[in-house]
Amino acid sequence: MMDLLAAEASGIGLSLTKAHLMAFEAYYRELTDWNQRFNLTTIISYEDVQIKHLLDSLMCILAFPGESTQELIPNTVPLLQRDHGLRCADVGTGAGFPGLPLKIMYPGLNLTLVEATHKKTLFLQHMVELLRLQHIEIVNQRVEEVGQSPKWRRQYDLIVARAVASMNVLAEYCLPLLRVGGRWIAQKGDGIEPELAAAEYAIRTLGGKVVASKSYHLPNLPEARHLVVIDKVCETPDMYPRRPGIPTKHPL
Ligand code: SAM
Repeated sequence: MMDLLAAEASGIGLSLTKAHLMAFEAYYRELTDWNQRFNLTTIISYEDVQIKHLLDSLMCILAFPGESTQELIPNTVPLLQRDHGLRCADVGTGAGFPGLPLKIMYPGLNLTLVEATHKKTLFLQHMVELLRLQHIEIVNQRVEEVGQSPKWRRQYDLIVARAVASMNVLAEYCLPLLRVGGRWIAQKGDGIEPELAAAEYAIRTLGGKVVASKSYHLPNLPEARHLVVIDKVCETPDMYPRRPGIPTKHPL
């Protein structure tokens, strides 16, 4: 059961218990089952789900500051008690990546999953009930609206986002949700440098500062992947995020 995931996760220092593996197995089963009715993901083979979805999601943990990463990534977020009430949001979570695997690993995370597509949030709700996850909120709204609501704006210690938009657009989605001192981890594919250079103005304007970019490889895949780590160093101006659709139409 989930042998590949278990072996590869141990390579990054994570030891997955039987309970974790059962939860990940159930996640795989439900994802592929629902995928026959709703188009949730194109990655569906048992091996690919373990590596490209589950292991890749868990890679975010490499940018959670702690003893092992302190040297590499400055520790500005008090994440040491990271599984005790830390407020985290996954922006554009789709079928739950990377948020749900992180929640399975750290059940105490206080997690918000933001996703605009209704059918995907139905799947997320189903998974939350099936796995009996607590302290998790699913928000079926555009993140531009979420970021302007006092209920969510400046409320988070940590934001994660994978494969949602280019960095300059993503900055407008993610930074308004963070408190000053909080951390945003963007999971990106290869060729991140030009994208990051083009986002420099947006990140600065919205109150962020790039503190690290850490590359990693998934097993048997040639392209490098990246965790771009951005800390919030000052408040985001009130006018951001702009109305839904504007950040992509007129990126900063
Ligand atoms: N993060 C997931 C993953 O890595 O598998 C999903 C990636 S998918 C390519 C991008 C997701 O972001 C889609 O499910 C889409 O509906 C959602 N999304 C894009 N723009 C959004 C926005 N402005 N507000 C909320 N969700 C958004």
